[in-house]
Amino acid sequence: MKNRKVPKFFIKNNMQKSNITGVYFENIISRDDLSVICYDLTGQRDFLYEFVDNEYEDEFLSKSYNKGRLGILRYFDKVFYISFSDISNKGRNSALQSVPTAFNLFFTNKYKNKELYFYFLPNSINNTTNYHIFMYRLMASIGFSFLNIPDKLKGYIKPFSSIDDLILSRKENSNKNSGNNATYIVKNGNNSYDIYGKTYGANKYDTSLICYAICSIAQKHDSITLFEYNEQDLSELPESSLNVLRIMGNINIINIDDELELRELRKNNSIRSPRFNARLLDRFGEKKCILCCCEISEIIQGAHLWPVSEIKNRKDLSLEQKVYYATDGENGLWMCQNHHKLFDSNIIIISENGKINYKDNIERNYKDFLDNITTNFELPSFIVTHKFQEYIKLRNELITQNL
Ligand SMILES: [Zn+2]
Repeated sequence: MKNRKVPKFFIKNNMQKSNITGVYFENIISRDDLSVICYDLTGQRDFLYEFVDNEYEDEFLSKSYNKGRLGILRYFDKVFYISFSDISNKGRNSALQSVPTAFNLFFTNKYKNKELYFYFLPNSINNTTNYHIFMYRLMASIGFSFLNIPDKLKGYIKPFSSIDDLILSRKENSNKNSGNNATYIVKNGNNSYDIYGKTYGANKYDTSLICYAICSIAQKHDSITLFEYNEQDLSELPESSLNVLRIMGNINIINIDDELELRELRKNNSIRSPRFNARLLDRFGEKKCILCCCEISEIIQGAHLWPVSEIKNRKDLSLEQKVYYATDGENGLWMCQNHHKLFDSNIIIISENGKINYKDNIERNYKDFLDNITTNFELPSFIVTHKFQEYIKLRNELITQNL
């Protein structure tokens, strides 16, 4: 690489949609921005800059539009990757969609003497929500340094110290009791963590960034699995993201597909189906026992209403139908291990109207104990759907048969 005694910026001028919008990088990045950045990174006042077209290529930029909203600054044998904030405001996470791409390009380039930065363009908007702070902290965790931090964000952008720290911060800032996140991080026992990540649409940016951060801060003894979760199609994370995760090397990547679910069903009676878990996360949000509100993720399980052992025994169902019932989100509830066992032992019984009861003729001291550990005696109405009632009916018919 040519040794540059005067710092020089190379910035691809075209954005993905410049042809339509008429907005190019030379319209949004001023000479003042570049001057500040150059002085911060090199201590030099004099610099050169060039907005290059799609055809331009060198060892840091390929023939294409500006992926990752990146500028490359070269000075002697040093290379600085600078990702610029998005000044548009098209939706919750559109502003940071280019960040994983910028990281991918930085991370996979083999050049050694490189550094990664983020620069807030002066006219950035709407970038101080809890969601954004969380995303900036993910960026700090994977090695982004921030060249300038808006006043409202000062003191907030620091890397996560551990996966538990990351999970806690996310919980505190997210809308509790609601599902529909792009990504869920579940802590199991023994330093094992499962990431349930949606891979379609804009979700894939969140999922990629969360996985990068978790892999970056993981300790040696942590075991991490990414379950790629799709309801709408069979897509995976983009190849560029998967490539980064493979290089990081400390994450096991599993696509939740039909074959996986068929295998699980054949193997396990007490099904540990990733699809079932993903659907419960989507339906109920983070793990929390429906009967006592316990949130200790390590002891919370997906409890089936119509038991998997019974579904498997039904001779009138095809294997595909069995998988359908065993993984249906409406056929399940989150329960702590205590309540799950009590439910499966038919000591606690849920009726079709969503009311919680104990079995008949229960001993006095049993009842006192159950009263002590149980806080909810009626399920919220959104849970008591028609399908839910069908599953409960099938379950409760079994209890009657066995009496
Ligand atoms: Zn419980």
